[in-house]
Amino acid sequence: MGLAPLWRLRDRPAVDDACGQLADAVVDRAPLQAERSADTVPAAAGAVDLRIVPPLHSDARRGHAGLPPLAAGVAPAVTPEHVADGRIEGLDWDALEATILTCEACVLCQKRKQAVPGVGDRQADWLFVGEGPGAEEDERGEPFVGQAGRLLDAMLASIDLRRGHDVYIANAVKCRPPHNRTPETAEIAACFPYLERQIALLQPRLIVALGRPAAQALLNQEIKIGASRGRLFRYGGIPVIVTYHPAYLLRNLHDKGKVWEDLCFARRTMAELHARADAGAPENLPTI
Ligand code: URA
Repeated sequence: MGLAPLWRLRDRPAVDDACGQLADAVVDRAPLQAERSADTVPAAAGAVDLRIVPPLHSDARRGHAGLPPLAAGVAPAVTPEHVADGRIEGLDWDALEATILTCEACVLCQKRKQAVPGVGDRQADWLFVGEGPGAEEDERGEPFVGQAGRLLDAMLASIDLRRGHDVYIANAVKCRPPHNRTPETAEIAACFPYLERQIALLQPRLIVALGRPAAQALLNQEIKIGASRGRLFRYGGIPVIVTYHPAYLLRNLHDKGKVWEDLCFARRTMAELHARADAGAPENLPTI
């Protein structure tokens, strides 16, 4: 589809300049302190709203992934016993993947060819989280290997990242929803302990949520991507940046500039995190 050129860096200085403004904004305009409510931080006029939204995930073992409560009378199709017995919390990478591959915690297991745990560098600083496997991912057992995946690879390349190199890619649900429908709340909830464990093992410096279901799963709140772009959220102490899903972008190529901005923002945020770590300063952005 000739997508890669859309994302190729024309020249490094222009990109760094563009991203630099955002990084400066993070440092200068988000002087959050632990005791200060994020909601009280005013957005600077004309600047990206960089308020850090407090995590609602402190009760991450909440059994329903902290997602909006199900409507009255709607029960999860399957009780995720693996959550109740806390078994996932102690798993290492290989055991976690093996568990995911045999998971039957929700109805998505019934139609999958195989579960798709995740792929990449298990010590990556970057974690990209998508929605759920599609047909090609279901066939091959690797996330983002279809058309949207090729665009994701181009997006990664545009900020000098490469699948498998300092990047881990996972999904909110590990099994393909039939006909690629959006995963349901109960399905995301049943699967969330796997993502939670992946994050605990990986301990990424930064998470990029690709699309609304991924963002909502991570942030435990209603998210509109358009209104959330350019903001720094947190999952636990880990900064989370949201952007459009590559599949959305394939249908709405006119929005590629927005995703480019989001990637620049992510890249500069990562640079800031590295700089702080190198300086021996606390990495958690709420303190800057
Ligand atoms: N879309 C996703 O969200 N994840 C994949 O793995 C593939 C397509």
